[in-house]
Order: sequence, then structure tokens, then C-alpha cells
Amino acid sequence: MSSRPFPGGRHERDSPLRSIELALPAPIGAIMVEVVFEPRKRITIRIRPDGRVRVTAPLSAENGFVEKVLLEKSRWIARHLARLAAAPPVPAVYMPGAVHFFLGDPFTIAPLMQGRSGVTLSDGRLLVSSPAPENPKTLEKALRRWYRKQAETIIGERLGVWSPRLPFLPDHEVRFRWMKSRWGSCSRGNSIVLNIQLVKAPLSCIDYVVAHELCHTLHHDHGAGFKHLLDTVMPGWKASADRLKNLPVLL
Ligand SMILES: [Zn+2]
Repeated sequence: MSSRPFPGGRHERDSPLRSIELALPAPIGAIMVEVVFEPRKRITIRIRPDGRVRVTAPLSAENGFVEKVLLEKSRWIARHLARLAAAPPVPAVYMPGAVHFFLGDPFTIAPLMQGRSGVTLSDGRLLVSSPAPENPKTLEKALRRWYRKQAETIIGERLGVWSPRLPFLPDHEVRFRWMKSRWGSCSRGNSIVLNIQLVKAPLSCIDYVVAHELCHTLHHDHGAGFKHLLDTVMPGWKASADRLKNLPVLL
């Protein structure tokens, strides 16, 4: 259902999200709206604090219907986005005392002056050591490098757990990338990309994304075959998917 392209919209076939372009009145102009199809009765529009707009629609909804609802609500969306744009900017997140998540738990950045850069978890704190710990750029670099290492290790292990659970799993490759708007994707050629930031989420959410993308190597859409496979491999996936969607911390 959700694999059909939106006319005139950017279509990302192998992502859990679809995008559609919506023209809003000046000064906002055109924006991309994320569209998710789910087993539900009503269509809802949500505007996130970072300004992203997401529509959740019933599986039976036609693309044209989603576009019509968006057009009807475009003034409401524009008003909310204008209000967000007028709000004070979010402070830099790579600062001493800023909170970052790891496996679902919050940790506070505590910089340490040291010759070698590295990150250690201790007592609710992310101890970030570097030669210039007061520099946000240095903190960001050290943290991102650490998150990548954690993602490769932890999510790599989860891939090792879930792969054998899928019968007839085709050849595929997995890469990790720091991404802002999606947790994972799987191309037609079975190249899976997982978001490094997924390691900030609880393990059950990581497992959901891993299982979801592995299922895409056999079904490149969110149709009945895909749903059946995911239900079989991971019967409780919906709770983890909802939890991931509602995490305060991440994308
Ligand atoms: Zn998907």
C-alpha cells in the first residue's frame, strides 16, 4: 500500500517513511511532509518541536486523499510552523551538562581535560575526555566517534541475533550512518543503512528496526507479505515501534 509513489512528491521506496511536498503560504513556502501508513481508522497530522510535519494515515487511504487533507489543513500547519520559527533557538547540544541518551537511558556530558580523546560512561555521566574539552566541536567529534563504535558493536550483535531468525535471508550488506530523519533503509539491491543514533534508543527499539530492515531484504514494501514476515519473526514489534516513535530524545 505505502509503496505507491506520490505524484509530484519525493518518493523513498525502501524507507519506512514516505515524503510528500506541500506548498505553504509565504514566507514558509514548500515543505516535505512525512507520511506513514498504519492499521488505524483516522488520519492525524503532527508537528514536531523541530518543525518536521508527519502524517499518519490508515492503510486504506489513497494518496490523493492524504494530499487533500494536507491542503485543507495547510493554513493550520503554516500557523504552527510560523510560531515554532519565532521561538528562541535550541541551545547547542554539545555542551557540558547537556543530556544525551544511550540504550534508552539519559547521560549528562561531563568534559575531562586529557591528552587523548575518548568517552566513558560513569554514574549517569558521559565522561568526554579531550585536549580541548570546552570546545563544543571537540565534544561533538568525540561523542559521534564513540556513538559510531557503540552502534557497530551493539547493533552488529543484534543483527547477528536476528539474521538467523529469518528464513531464506538473501545476501545483503549493512552500513552505519549518522542520519537525521530516519532509522534505517534497505535498497532494492539489499543494501541496508542503519542510523548510528539508533544506539541511543532502548534495545527493544533497536531490535525492531533491525528486524524491520532485514524483512525488507525479502519484501521491498510494507505490504501483506512484509507484515506477515515481521509478525512471525517479531510478534511484539508494534509496541517497540510505538516506543521508538515517542522517544523524546532522538530524531
Ligand atoms: Zn520499512
